[in-house]
Amino acid sequence: MNASTAGRTRRCAAAHEADPTPCEGRRTAVTVLDGNGTQHTGCIHHTARLLASLDGARLHPSAAALPWACEVYCRAAQLPPYAWQVGR
Ligand SMILES: [Zn+2]
Repeated sequence: MNASTAGRTRRCAAAHEADPTPCEGRRTAVTVLDGNGTQHTGCIHHTARLLASLDGARLHPSAAALPWACEVYCRAAQLPPYAWQVGR
C-alpha cells in the first residue's frame, strides 16, 4: 500500500503535510483560527493537532455550537506541539 500518496490526497485541509496520520470523521468538522486569523477547517484529529501546534491558535467562534468542540480542546491539551515530529 502506498500510504504517502493515498493518505495525503484524501485528507482534510488542517492536516500538516509532514503529519502522516489519517483523518478522523468529517473533514470539515471544525475550523481553527491561527494567530494571524487564517482559517483552517478540518477533521477533529487534525484540528486538535493544529490547535496544539500553532502559536495563538483557537477554535472559530462557530465551534461553540458543535458537540465535539470540547473533544478538540481536550485532545489538543494532551498533545505536544507538532506531535507528528515525536511520533504521536
Ligand atoms: Zn484531517
